[in-house]
Amino acid sequence: MTSLKIWMDGHLVDQADATCSTLAHGLHYGTGVFEGIRAYATPDGPAIFRLEDHLARMQRGADLLGLAFDRARVSQACQDVLRANGMGDAYIRPLTFFAAGGLSLDVSALQSRTIVAALPWKTHCDEAGVPTHLSRYRRNPHTALPALKLCGGYVNAILAKREAMAKGFQEALFVDDAGYVVEATGENLFLVKHGRVIAVEHPDALPGITRATIIDLAGADSRMVHLSELEDADELFFTGTSAEVAPITRLDGRTLKPGPVTMDLRQLYLDVVHGRVPARRDWLTYAVEAEVGV
Ligand code: PMP
Repeated sequence: MTSLKIWMDGHLVDQADATCSTLAHGLHYGTGVFEGIRAYATPDGPAIFRLEDHLARMQRGADLLGLAFDRARVSQACQDVLRANGMGDAYIRPLTFFAAGGLSLDVSALQSRTIVAALPWKTHCDEAGVPTHLSRYRRNPHTALPALKLCGGYVNAILAKREAMAKGFQEALFVDDAGYVVEATGENLFLVKHGRVIAVEHPDALPGITRATIIDLAGADSRMVHLSELEDADELFFTGTSAEVAPITRLDGRTLKPGPVTMDLRQLYLDVVHGRVPARRDWLTYAVEAEVGV
């Protein structure tokens, strides 16, 4: 098997050589920011979905932590790593983190590193649906940790996922102290009621790019939703780069069928990301080689 190529600080290297120190600050404190981006094989070559929107969100996390981040360079790196690995369908993972300079909580003098990996990927939530458990954990409140893709923030999601999986579920759904729905560990939530599509809004939830896509495609309303509203929803589904559009088929004791609105939106989303909807092709970046500058 040929080695995976990883882009690291401007160079494409074998995975075995893409290493960092055991004293990397990011390893100890989770001081990094990452993205999860999908590329799809299309008749016109590999296309990356909403690449610039993902990198804009990553930039916000990098700015918050004071991490150096060159967005144009990372954008090109995402395309280069895809091509270097000969991939069409892939999950692209850019990560910027504090790598050297000490373990102080004052990060102002630390050096950062950036990697971009492209991994073969299969969606972890499919049309068969997602059995979901209402978590006893609370999501990181945005007043403590802004809802961005900051590495350390994901420990919270991992605890909830461990709890859900130990009880035989696949996903965990967070609610806040007042009973308002937040999100899942790596997905945003939608409900369908009397044919209306509602996107769950919450300040502690990541502003998902798939969520924004579905709001746009479905003309969905975005608002806070109380847990009690889920009880009489006709359909529930998750959105996320990895999950795409995935029906929820169980919410603790309640069983739901993948509904028609969900499945139509799922198909529309898959058509969009595969470049089959001409009006939405501006969301796709076709991976090209960098122009050699003069
Ligand atoms: N919430 C969390 C916590 C996530 O990690 C993700 C995945 N990035 C999402 C929601 C969905 O966001 P997106 O649609 O941008 O992938």
